Amino acid sequence: MKKVRYPELLPHEFRSRLAELPVAYLPLGTLEWHGEHLPIGADAIQSEALMVECARQLGGIAMPPIYFGPDRASLTDNGSCFYGMDTADSTTPHRQLDGSCYWISNGMFETLIDAMLSQIKRAGFRGVFADGHGPSRWVWTNGIDEREKRFGLKLLGVTHSDVANGWSYQVDHAARNETSITLVVRGDLVDLSQLPDDRAVWPQGVGGEDPRDATTEWGRECLQSSVEVVRRKLDAAGL
Ligand SMILES: [Zn+2]
Repeated sequence: MKKVRYPELLPHEFRSRLAELPVAYLPLGTLEWHGEHLPIGADAIQSEALMVECARQLGGIAMPPIYFGPDRASLTDNGSCFYGMDTADSTTPHRQLDGSCYWISNGMFETLIDAMLSQIKRAGFRGVFADGHGPSRWVWTNGIDEREKRFGLKLLGVTHSDVANGWSYQVDHAARNETSITLVVRGDLVDLSQLPDDRAVWPQGVGGEDPRDATTEWGRECLQSSVEVVRRKLDAAGL
């Protein structure tokens, strides 16, 4: 298996991968409730798996995930995490859910991105593709044009139009999509038996299609079709 993760590369391996394709893949995650059946770090686990697959198939280097991300979560008086899903297809009321949240403000997240981009530029990369945890995805793409100019890097992400046109990686919350993907990339961490057997009972804090219909076949399709979208984005950006 090709070594593509930044922290694992020897300097000569880093130089050679950078010379081949100077692209960094940046996984955006957080730590938050993903149902009783998925790990709390599901976002970073999925996005890192996509970035590693892109680096193996397309070239470039997979960066470590950023676990800090913006979200609607907030801390309660007793210090535990409150995470509320309010998607149209979730009947789950807001309530306190288990799982530590690495939630930071949009501004702090943007400062973190800026610091990373200046170092990524200095290291010799010419382009960055970042994606993952929903709220981080939108902060990244909203500021992408201004940051491209400021840092002199080609910056790529997943847009609303990509999602409307079939982007199918991390497009729900702990539901059929994220569950199918996690089954493929870290199936050892998924426990579907934690979900209610009774189909009339909707799983707590899950937004999207029923995770009990997740399949590895669909997860594999989502992974590979997303690598192909990233390939086209790199081509279009001249990378
Ligand atoms: Zn997620």
